[in-house]
Amino acid sequence: MALDRIVGQDHAVSLLGRAFESGRLSHAYLFQGPEGVGKETTALELAAALNCEREGFSACGECGSCAMARRLSHPDIHLVFPVPSTIKPDEYASILESQVRSGFREPDFGRRVPIISVETVNDEIVAKSNRRPYVGPWKVFVVSDADSMSPEAANALLKTLEEPPDDTIIVLTTSRPGALPGTIVSRCQRIPFARLRPEAIEKILTADPRLDFDGGRAREAGALARGSAGRAVRVDSKTTKSELERVAGIMTGRRTRDVGSLLSEAQALAYRLGREEQQHILDLMLLWYRDVLRLASLEESSASSGLVYSGHAGELAEQAELLSLDLIEPLIGKIDSARRAIERYSNPAIVFTSVLLDMAIARRKAADRRRAGRA
Ligand SMILES: [Zn+2]
Repeated sequence: MALDRIVGQDHAVSLLGRAFESGRLSHAYLFQGPEGVGKETTALELAAALNCEREGFSACGECGSCAMARRLSHPDIHLVFPVPSTIKPDEYASILESQVRSGFREPDFGRRVPIISVETVNDEIVAKSNRRPYVGPWKVFVVSDADSMSPEAANALLKTLEEPPDDTIIVLTTSRPGALPGTIVSRCQRIPFARLRPEAIEKILTADPRLDFDGGRAREAGALARGSAGRAVRVDSKTTKSELERVAGIMTGRRTRDVGSLLSEAQALAYRLGREEQQHILDLMLLWYRDVLRLASLEESSASSGLVYSGHAGELAEQAELLSLDLIEPLIGKIDSARRAIERYSNPAIVFTSVLLDMAIARRKAADRRRAGRA
């Protein structure tokens, strides 16, 4: 992998390329954009390119410096990322190692909130930026999810950003630029990263042997991932057959036939699942409607290929015939806002009850319309 092979971020890469060619790289960058679209990958590739023993904007991938960069063991390339405060320094290294091995799957810290502490900023960035580089011409610091810095950590970093040593480049990445202090943002040159198209995600997943995706699975995960390769990897490892079956049962109303079963399904979703799993279920609900719309808009012969719920083609076709766009669109909007509500820690029981009720009402309306049409 090299900068010229970063997939789906042409704008960001060309901004960096122009600065590189003209020798006008900034000392501080803010790579901002959705999670899982290649911000860290690009930052680390930039770091490798700056230190590569051969000339040019893209790292050669073969020299000694590139080999160290690839293993994340380059003494002048430093990656800082948030971890729960209970993690000890020696565990940090093993987390880093497992990320390299697995192709940067996000570590799962459960309910422990990961942060970047002031100690980390002082030890890993402030102190090291004041030393001379060991091998390469540049010291590069990549601060992943910089919005996870504690206020003290951000303050400590600010001093280095205000007077960066000549041979230092700091790249902050974030999917929530609004959560960073304005004083930090104003010191950085912003590079926007875009959502990835499904084909780009498919390409990324199949190109990286560590991720172990074949074409079919990559296509499915790309469709599920809503613009994020990171999410594609997570969704794929999480979406089990039983989850798809459960959501299909909810979407057809099989699991929510009457008020009692609807309420108990909503309670189960609200209290037996974690927040991530709840969002995942909502994603799967959206995909059900995507399949329905796909069936409604396609010729029958070509319709069943590429469906996420291919095992439920009959039920999907039934809904495609029954539910018109004016009923489906508000439901999609509803699920989207439910996702945001869960993200903001709203009461999940209320969120899910309301979603399931709206879906049941839409199905009832559609059935009534059909009956009226027949009469
Ligand atoms: Zn090289």
